[in-house]
Amino acid sequence: MHSEYDVIIVGGGAAGIGAARRLAANGASALLLEASSRLGGRAFTQDLGGYPLDLGCEWLHSGDRNAWVGIAEASGFPVDRSDPPWAQAHPATARNEDDEQAARRAFGDWEERLRPVARGSDRASDALELGGEWNAYVRAIAGFMSGLAPERISASDYLAYDDASTGKNWNLPLGYGTLVAASLPSSTALRLATPAERIDLTADGVAVATRAGTLRAKAVILTVSTAVLAGEAIRLPPGTEPWREAAAALPLGRNEKVFLEIGRDTAFEADSHAYGNLRDARSAAYSIRPNGWPVIEAFLGGEGARILEEEGPAAGFAFVSAELTGLFGGDVASAIRPLAATSWSRVASIGGAYSCALPGQSHARARLARPFEDRLFFAGEATHPFDFTTAHGAHDSGVRAADEALAALQGRDRHGLRGPRIVAGTHATR
Ligand SMILES: Cc1cc2nc3c(=O)[nH]c(=O)nc-3n(C[C@H](O)[C@H](O)[C@H](O)COP(=O)(O)OP(=O)(O)OC[C@H]3O[C@@H](n4cnc5c(N)ncnc54)[C@H](O)[C@@H]3O)c2cc1C
Repeated sequence: MHSEYDVIIVGGGAAGIGAARRLAANGASALLLEASSRLGGRAFTQDLGGYPLDLGCEWLHSGDRNAWVGIAEASGFPVDRSDPPWAQAHPATARNEDDEQAARRAFGDWEERLRPVARGSDRASDALELGGEWNAYVRAIAGFMSGLAPERISASDYLAYDDASTGKNWNLPLGYGTLVAASLPSSTALRLATPAERIDLTADGVAVATRAGTLRAKAVILTVSTAVLAGEAIRLPPGTEPWREAAAALPLGRNEKVFLEIGRDTAFEADSHAYGNLRDARSAAYSIRPNGWPVIEAFLGGEGARILEEEGPAAGFAFVSAELTGLFGGDVASAIRPLAATSWSRVASIGGAYSCALPGQSHARARLARPFEDRLFFAGEATHPFDFTTAHGAHDSGVRAADEALAALQGRDRHGLRGPRIVAGTHATR
């Protein structure tokens, strides 16, 4: 039976959209299948209280080499290149500055000790100082970065990201999710709310079973999260067990956000930052009045994010309200009210925040990125060798997988099999 498309892309996040753009630029026809009813995946901007708030990715990390910056500028999306306020504590917090600096130094020392650990046990917790005064702070920041406790973080994986980061963190005032969702080429056919349930290899390509029927193409690019890949939702062809095992070695950590609205004029300084409690590993980082909006965004990682996962949004609101009261005084409680809380770990088609290699498993990223039988290509943030956990890493992984698929299809063409129909696809179903 003949292929309807050159490539079927499974998943409409940053990786799937990056792949679609590359395929479209090369004249290959593509269909993108997305399980949920919207594009963007972990890139999701929602209008909350009238403000475009990013529930998932927000910062253009390594902005000076981030593909989304060029895409934004080409589409007329403003990019804010000013430094984020993270390094500067909000002036009104009741905090001992010496403590703050000591905690930051302890985190830097922990990162340095990760290097020898990476050559040994590779367990990031082995770089914690025994009984260290600021270990709770180190755990919280490691949780922001990786979403897991240091006992479950590979030191070499952590360092691969850190060493490659350029330290430039830019922002999209209209929302990262807005940009990603707007960037699918019009020539890519799209089916929302259509999860891929099963993928089989056929004589000349692939068959993707969905509840709306079976679709055929010459190749598939699979961009779903490692939680989905390691789970039961998609049946993959026999022989792909090593890819599932690689995905299981790269679990998604826990990172969630809580948004609060500032109800009346208070002393909150616009575009400022505060850290909750230096001595609590569950503590949140607070982005205060981003873009001048009357909003506070709390970012929780690892143990803190588990409050939302295990106890729900009300417990998350209570936790961050108590931290803000501790920081700014009792008056704050009456000035803030809950706006929204995320639950990425409970979204079945995603299942967490971003991937983290378990100790000794950093090579799993390269194993996951390998093509299978020149028909099934793997992309997604977890497959990037160093920009994993990010939307630009996801994008670049989609481009890499698209190039692999194009090369495989052209190779098949040379060997007399039906190759890619290199024409601009016009199958848009949107
Ligand atoms: C709270 C939070 C904060 C973050 N902050 C940042 C940040 O500031 N900067 C940054 O760069 N990154 C950040 N990230 C990470 C970034 O959002 C992700 O790394 C990136 O968006 C992942 O893109 P992806 O395409 O690999 O995966 P996804 O976005 O997960 O896309 C995969 C898609 O596949 C779909 N899918 C699943 N199963 C199926 C199926 N069976 N059939 C069809 N479709 C399916 C899913 O619905 C999803 O849309 C953050 C993430 C979170 C959760």
